[in-house]
Amino acid sequence: MKIIAIGRNYAEHAKELNNPVPTVPVIFLKPDTAILKDNKPFYHPEFSNDIHHEIELVLKISKEGKHISEKFASNYFDEVGLGVDFTARDIQQKHKEKGLPWELAKAFDNSAPVSQFISKANFTNLYDLNFRLDVNGHTVQKGNTSNLLFSFEYIISFVSRYFTLKKGDLIFTGTPQGVGKITSGDRLAGYLEDQKLLDFEIR
Ligand code: MG
Repeated sequence: MKIIAIGRNYAEHAKELNNPVPTVPVIFLKPDTAILKDNKPFYHPEFSNDIHHEIELVLKISKEGKHISEKFASNYFDEVGLGVDFTARDIQQKHKEKGLPWELAKAFDNSAPVSQFISKANFTNLYDLNFRLDVNGHTVQKGNTSNLLFSFEYIISFVSRYFTLKKGDLIFTGTPQGVGKITSGDRLAGYLEDQKLLDFEIR
């Protein structure tokens, strides 16, 4: 399986990092070794002094497809969950300045903690979902899917022109504002509406 992630899909987050609001989706990948499941602890790697949390709504692809039209894209995911797109901001910043790719900053081991997944049928409107991240009991990021720049259907249609989507692939749909540094000892809790789906420790 693969993880496809969308950068800068919430305007307020693009602005907080002084990035332009994109007119086409910013896409990057993480390998399957980035997955961290079952609320296992995240061990802070030594190669970065500035790893940021990015809470994101995650789609789970339910069947194979390529060149999927936007009109049918909703048939390609049945479940949603939460994930954290851990980002070594110090490495990313250097690579951005040099025009280098982002993998070392984004795709390292365990850089993609994910929650259990929930049937999308449980939600009346996928474009009015509240989600948030609490660090040590304080809410630091709060998003609502009504603020997405590119819709789930558009993202699926767009990426499937380049990459065949397979059952079990995950799409990280972008983070709202409020990203920040994590430190060993922090406890991260992610909520989708009122349901706590993520709850794990930084070690
Ligand atoms: Mg992200």
